Amino acid sequence: MLKTTKTTRSFALAALVSIVLVGIILTGTRSSLDRTINAAIASESLTHVRHLTRQIQESFPELDRIARDGLVKVETRRRLQQQLVFASGLVQLKVYSADGLLRYVHDQKRWLADGSQRSSEALQDSRASGHEVYKRLDADPGTVLIRAVEPLATETQKRFGYLEITFDHSDNGNIFRDGFRWMIFALPLLMALAYLGPTLGWLYLKSRNQRAEARLRHMARRDSLTGLMNRATFTAEAEAAFAEPPRPLHNHGIILIDVDQFRGFNAAHGHELGDAYLQHLAETLRSHLRKEDLIARLGGDEFAALLPHVLPDELQSAANRLRAELRRPFQHEGKAVAGRARIGTCLATPNDTLDELLKSADIALTHAKRNGTDQVVAFTEGLDSCRGRCEQIESTLRYAWDTGRAHMVYQPVIDAKTQKIKGFEALMRLTSEDGTPISPAEFIPIAEQTGQICDLGRRAMEEAMRVARDWPEDVFLAINLSPAQFRDESLVEEVRWLIDSLDFPAHRLEFEITEGLLLEEDARVQSQFKALKAMGISMAMDDFGTGFSSLSYLLAHDFDKLKIDRSFLTGLADDVTRQRKVLKSIIDLGQQLGLVITTEGVETTDQIDLLTHLGCDLLQGFYFSKPLPEEDAHALLLDDRDSPALQA
Ligand code: C2E
Ligand code: CA
Ligand code: CA
Repeated sequence: MLKTTKTTRSFALAALVSIVLVGIILTGTRSSLDRTINAAIASESLTHVRHLTRQIQESFPELDRIARDGLVKVETRRRLQQQLVFASGLVQLKVYSADGLLRYVHDQKRWLADGSQRSSEALQDSRASGHEVYKRLDADPGTVLIRAVEPLATETQKRFGYLEITFDHSDNGNIFRDGFRWMIFALPLLMALAYLGPTLGWLYLKSRNQRAEARLRHMARRDSLTGLMNRATFTAEAEAAFAEPPRPLHNHGIILIDVDQFRGFNAAHGHELGDAYLQHLAETLRSHLRKEDLIARLGGDEFAALLPHVLPDELQSAANRLRAELRRPFQHEGKAVAGRARIGTCLATPNDTLDELLKSADIALTHAKRNGTDQVVAFTEGLDSCRGRCEQIESTLRYAWDTGRAHMVYQPVIDAKTQKIKGFEALMRLTSEDGTPISPAEFIPIAEQTGQICDLGRRAMEEAMRVARDWPEDVFLAINLSPAQFRDESLVEEVRWLIDSLDFPAHRLEFEITEGLLLEEDARVQSQFKALKAMGISMAMDDFGTGFSSLSYLLAHDFDKLKIDRSFLTGLADDVTRQRKVLKSIIDLGQQLGLVITTEGVETTDQIDLLTHLGCDLLQGFYFSKPLPEEDAHALLLDDRDSPALQA
């Protein structure tokens, strides 16, 4: 901004200087040219007059007589009149005696009708000096009128009269002046151009360099996609804000924002839309925060805002405003797309450094991400201990299988028609060092983040297959697979090895995978998916309907089963008609695609009736059984085999 005004100012100055210079050059050149031209015309006219005077004297020797005694023969008068008509420019010819008496007048243009008798100034001068005299009689600037008086003398220099010629040289002068007129304009113009060209060129190059420099500086300081500050600039500017003197009751506040499952968003909607979403997010931050707030894209899908000198309420309401705004779907090329953003905030205490503030806000953000909440999470000391808990879980997970803190439980999956057990879903359990259970909702994300899930998952799979080996031949075993396990190239080999070594029939095995995995469309995921299917293993799409594009992925992959997420039972319970319609559509669609449909989270007889009526194949939920330890699952299975099947 500053640079632009500076450049504009130099241009304006150059333009002003140029105009003044062109003006000076124009007037200067014009007047000096005028002078030169006039001088040239005068000298040319004199030559001409001299020539004419000489010619007349030579052609008319009778002038001698005329001057002496004023006698003009008829023949001489006729000759004079005839010949002088052709003397171009001649206005008047007069012949005087030696004492200045007018002897003869030839007035070509009736020039001096009255004053012809009066002796001219030029004559007086010539008589006084005894020399020839030339006078300019020009009335206006366009005319060149010359009067020449030449003494007439004998060969012995005896003066006997004067010849006076009045001569109009205007036409010649004008022709001459016209010839030079273009120079009056062209010359100053050329001179001005000679000055302006290099000056403007220099100014242009200078401003271009300045612009390039500014752009480079901007690029180094800004994030190219969103135009927000980058991390380095943000840190520097925030440090400067921290160096300012504090204000009573006010403190610096920080808001950290992270896009939930941005990888998934990108894979589902394409990178162009992903970029557009980040730009939309940046714009939302810009338009909903104050001018003095520092806003930055710290990296990938992570944004930060430092709100200098705010009250606790102000920070909270700014964060809530952003949350409300980011919940709305955003429009891109006629398409409404919803993204999810997590927000963590922290208000500095007087002695906090920027680093500490950022760390605390990050803990709040991690909490928001882990809980999957789209509420704003404000940092509290309690959350900090939560970080300690994560570290504790991570260490518990490290040796969980070897120390007996991990084990598997099995939840039955029931045939909706016969209400007999068709299989079990194996679910992992973790107990902390003090013996309290840790929920998978808590430890699975940590295991995924730390990469421990591959090892844990392998052990879980081995354990579940070893248990399920003793179940009847027709009972399937469903195992949850994490995206990280799928990304691991050895997955197929390990599964094959387990199947072979435990002698477990592949057709009894089922893998449940969430859409999140398939979003990471790459050749490896595809080929592992196919290889597992080729071995005879069933593939189930888990948590159907909770992700971004369940439907398109369902169509793109060769699934055997579809598990409707339990949120479809709980979330829609208020509006039964609507719930019915949604469930019916999903079940119909799944069946049209030849998939077996399971609904999770079945807790009531009403839900069973509804799902059975809608044609859902399998049911799973607390109504039938909670996930059970190995022995209980086995006992339930034996019971189930003994009891009669329900008649549809
Ligand atoms: P999920 O795969 O959707 O598993 C079903 C979850 O729903 C289980 O929670 C189960 O206990 C719960 N559930 C079943 N019926 C009902 C019901 O009627 N009402 C309610 N409210 N809940 C019901 P759990 O065991 O806490 O597991 C949570 C999630 O953790 C699982 O969701 C799965 O994504 C993950 N998980 C669990 N075990 C493993 C594992 O061995 N490997 C992997 N990768 N993920 C696992
Ligand atoms: Ca599952
Ligand atoms: Ca599920």
